[in-house]
Amino acid sequence: MTTLSSSAPALRRHTRLVRVGHVALGSSAPVAVQAMTNTDTADIGATAAQVAELARAGSELVRITVNDEEAARAVPHIRERLDAQGVNVPLVGDFHYNGHTLLGKYPACAGALAKLRINPGNVGAGARRDAQFAGIIELACKYDKPVRIGVNWGSLDRAVLARVMDENAARAAPLPPEAAMRAALVASALESAAQAESLGLAADHIVLSAKVSGVQGLIAVYRELAGRCDYPLHLGLTEAGMGSRGIVASSAALAVLLQEGIGDTIRVSLTPEPGGSRAREVVVAQEILQTMGLRAFTPMVVACPGCGRTASTFFQELAADIQRHVRERMPQWRAQYEGAESMTLAVMGCVVNGPGESRHANVGISLPGTGEAPAAPVFVDGRKTVTLRGDNIAAEFAAIVDEYVETRYARRLA
Ligand code: SF4
Repeated sequence: MTTLSSSAPALRRHTRLVRVGHVALGSSAPVAVQAMTNTDTADIGATAAQVAELARAGSELVRITVNDEEAARAVPHIRERLDAQGVNVPLVGDFHYNGHTLLGKYPACAGALAKLRINPGNVGAGARRDAQFAGIIELACKYDKPVRIGVNWGSLDRAVLARVMDENAARAAPLPPEAAMRAALVASALESAAQAESLGLAADHIVLSAKVSGVQGLIAVYRELAGRCDYPLHLGLTEAGMGSRGIVASSAALAVLLQEGIGDTIRVSLTPEPGGSRAREVVVAQEILQTMGLRAFTPMVVACPGCGRTASTFFQELAADIQRHVRERMPQWRAQYEGAESMTLAVMGCVVNGPGESRHANVGISLPGTGEAPAAPVFVDGRKTVTLRGDNIAAEFAAIVDEYVETRYARRLA
């Protein structure tokens, strides 16, 4: 039986604890999953619906853009709609350029948000930058809101970049341009955090991020940040991309950092497929954490890739059906049973590795490969319990899984 602790990284970097509504970030809190909407925030119905969809998929914080007055006016109504549906996920407001104006003019917007995200490179240009940054921080202090200072290499503070580049050019052995750019990102994040603290924002109200779109660059930037501060870090590859490219790039970057104990909350910035669900980014973020043994969200289905011994599609269909089944059942199981999310299942294609892998899972099934007798032995906690045959194997296996949850995991007290 697989246990979570068997593969978990040994050490989590020490960070301060920051509270975002009822969600804790940093210190020993679990690495939190977050997501961002792509609806027009001024469209209250569409945004509330997407926030609810993301929250139900497992997003523990949801960020919404607050880009103009209509959006700022909509925020408290979005909060009300979510509360009326029993969706208590904290909302994070994403501000660029005019955050100081919007938060000052719409106190109900500030009140409805659990955290503010500002980008030091997009707060304002030239002489206005410091005053507008100070304006947002003072409002964060007034409303007691934590702030993520989110630096992005696509919108890096030009003054910081110019200064760091000048300093680099004056060195006896200048860094390559990319390394100097990374140094500017880190400097922008840390200097902005220091500035926020000097304006009165408590250190335990600050989260940092410094996003780039390349895997190696992201790893280098976050290692540097982690070594130089104890603010919780929000990890994510910016503009990760679409489909497998976005998933692979995000997984590669985040896995290296998480394995080193770096990162307190993650977002996977996937470009949705046309017509695809925005909640995909939540599922991917959960699967990164779960496959690394850091958290458990939904029972994991181990399945072999199939080969010439699996000539029919039945094996793939069963693996997909059982993954869908446990994902659909999980909200109810989570409410009723302790620990069902850590259950492991195996769906294997033939006798070569089927019985062995199935024995390692809580519940496993070894399907008949080409030329084998049409029988599918089922293993529960390492022991063969029954052999399924006929046309109803999928439903019977799902029923065995349901029974396993109902009998092996303690019922939660009402
Ligand atoms: S378990 Fe069997 S069907 Fe699956 S990949 Fe291995 S040999 Fe092929």
